Amino acid sequence: MSIKKLAVYCSSSDHIKKIYFDHADALGALMADNQIDLVYGGGMVGLMGEVAKSIKNHRGKTIGVVPEALRIDGVVNTIDDELIITADMHTRKAKMIELADGFIGLAGGFGTLEEMLEVMTLKQLGYHEKPIVFLNTDGYYNSIFEMFEHIYAENFAKAEYRQLYHICDTPEAAIEYLESYQPPDLPDKWFI
Ligand code: AMP
Repeated sequence: MSIKKLAVYCSSSDHIKKIYFDHADALGALMADNQIDLVYGGGMVGLMGEVAKSIKNHRGKTIGVVPEALRIDGVVNTIDDELIITADMHTRKAKMIELADGFIGLAGGFGTLEEMLEVMTLKQLGYHEKPIVFLNTDGYYNSIFEMFEHIYAENFAKAEYRQLYHICDTPEAAIEYLESYQPPDLPDKWFI
């Protein structure tokens, strides 16, 4: 399966450590080199802005998907090859999911987590079988993965669902996984 468009979910905050920006930068360069277009929230802020800037610096392509209410000067990027404006946040998320061949979550806050959990939930229910990767920069998501283990241990999800997502420490490993991805054969969600 080859990835042509990758949705990148990541922080809108700029007030974060340099290593997060370094990984966003490196991911953008790798995406451009591998002709993988960016589908993202269209922000010029935080890691979103960093990935988009890096892709444009490496002659890659970016598609911003922005809800009307967040179309704010100084927030919405002006460098995108394509800008898709949606009526609201729900349509925006659905549009990003439809456009992308895969999903990657870089470090982020509630928005990022919500987007990652949504694509995981949809995959769990069989709505799609696209790859989902966490780029676990500097162990940022370790405590979430502990929570996921607790979910399996307590039978709130089947242990096979570890295959819904993949965890990587570096942008290189993430691209490698995405490029060689084969959908897993998952059991259905129900414990019945
Ligand atoms: P957060 O992790 O809370 O910083 O939220 C970032 C995520 O939510 C990104 O992946 C975006 O898709 C979305 N998001 C948050 N703020 C914006 C914004 N101003 N413009 C576009 N998307 C945003």
